[in-house]
Amino acid sequence: MLKKVLIANRGEIALRVLRACREMGIATVAVHSEADKDSLHVKLADESVCIGPAPSPQSYLNIPAIIAAAEVTGADAIHPGYGFLAENDRFAEQVEQSGFVFIGPRAHTIRMMGDKVSAKIAMLEAGVPCVPGSDGALPEDPETILQIADKVGFPVIIKASGGGGGRGMRVVERREDLLKSVEMTRTEADAAFGNPMVYMERYLQRPRHVEIQVLADEHGNAIYLGERDCSLQRRHQKVIEEAPAPGITAQERDKIGQACVEACKRIGYRGAGTFEFLYEDGEFFFIEMNTRVQVEHPVTELVTGVDIVQEQIRIAAGLPLQYTQADIVIEGHAFECRINAEDPYTFIPSPGCITSCHLPGGFGVRVDSHIYQGYRIPPNYDSLIGKICVYGKTREQAMAKMRVAISELTISGIKTNADLHADLFRDEGFAQGGVSIHYLEHWLAERKAKLQK
Ligand code: ADP
Repeated sequence: MLKKVLIANRGEIALRVLRACREMGIATVAVHSEADKDSLHVKLADESVCIGPAPSPQSYLNIPAIIAAAEVTGADAIHPGYGFLAENDRFAEQVEQSGFVFIGPRAHTIRMMGDKVSAKIAMLEAGVPCVPGSDGALPEDPETILQIADKVGFPVIIKASGGGGGRGMRVVERREDLLKSVEMTRTEADAAFGNPMVYMERYLQRPRHVEIQVLADEHGNAIYLGERDCSLQRRHQKVIEEAPAPGITAQERDKIGQACVEACKRIGYRGAGTFEFLYEDGEFFFIEMNTRVQVEHPVTELVTGVDIVQEQIRIAAGLPLQYTQADIVIEGHAFECRINAEDPYTFIPSPGCITSCHLPGGFGVRVDSHIYQGYRIPPNYDSLIGKICVYGKTREQAMAKMRVAISELTISGIKTNADLHADLFRDEGFAQGGVSIHYLEHWLAERKAKLQK
């Protein structure tokens, strides 16, 4: 087993990884920027190293500083969390070349999945259903682009191969706008991601976002841990997630889960990963793969009882999976609310000092958060300050638990989106289950219109 793990991240995920290590008897090294010296993961870690000033390019994205911290502290492995360097193939490569274990997939897998065109080609070859579209990158020739679009059918979406975080996408409704939109997306993609390659997909009208969690080891074993529904999104960013996805049958789950497992075996996947799909009219369409632990992993942990982060660590240590597919039973229902330090109406970030703080608790309530009374949220990073998760025997029971949990949450000194969650958990459409990826944007637009009256 690994003896000492360096956690190359901050915030709630650094704490999550730290807790997993401590339970396994593994020593921890926290790295932090100057702005995060009072952070909880730094206080709780066995050792900590300051790796640079507040701006992330100089600290949490500073590969030489992180590797030097691992060398100085004698760590034997590095966990990247999510965000920052988690899906940076050069980082994975340099970690391993420096003699440390990277807790994640191999660098070439990260590279292949990080490029959406090569990821889609790999998935098509593995028999995973994809959104109909161009077979690979769009060519230069305008006539051919028009022909592809006619075959796919309007509306289409033009997506950057190197895109991520909801950026680098453009929907095209009309044939006459196509060539201009392709050109604009290419230019933007080149500027933002250093890669002008774009591809085309049919734009699905009312899909849901349903994703499959997988675990795969070095010994050729792979399993899936069911699905999560992450359709409640604002600007392509997830706000509430749940497991299982309402209305998905055991047969549907098994079929798509098996396809993902086969794909893992085929590409030699290692570690935890997520296959993201759009789901419409009973069909799954692959959009991308995330080669890391995800923010919303707790809902899967709650309904399966599997500790995904501990499994990541075991896999990285070279151990075989301790579960077979038959061991994975999905029971009950779980929700996660992402609590952000932001205005619940304008969504403008609200950093600052937390003057008082009470976090909810009780049977079936899990809070993953690094905040505490007196903690100052730096303005330099993502606004996620914690996640409230609940588990109930049924979806209704889990919803009731979340309403109570959110009502108990008190955070003063800064603004949070807790009221937005309180409202959504009283919304009838959401209560019915199975809303599309556009539901929240429409809901927000209606709320705004009502408030302006
Ligand atoms: P990113 O890597 O930037 O998150 P994704 O490919 O995962 O990009 O897409 C993000 C979101 O964009 C999806 O969850 C969905 O809301 C929307 N989207 C992407 N592709 C399509 C499509 N073909 N049709 C409709 N919506 C799409």
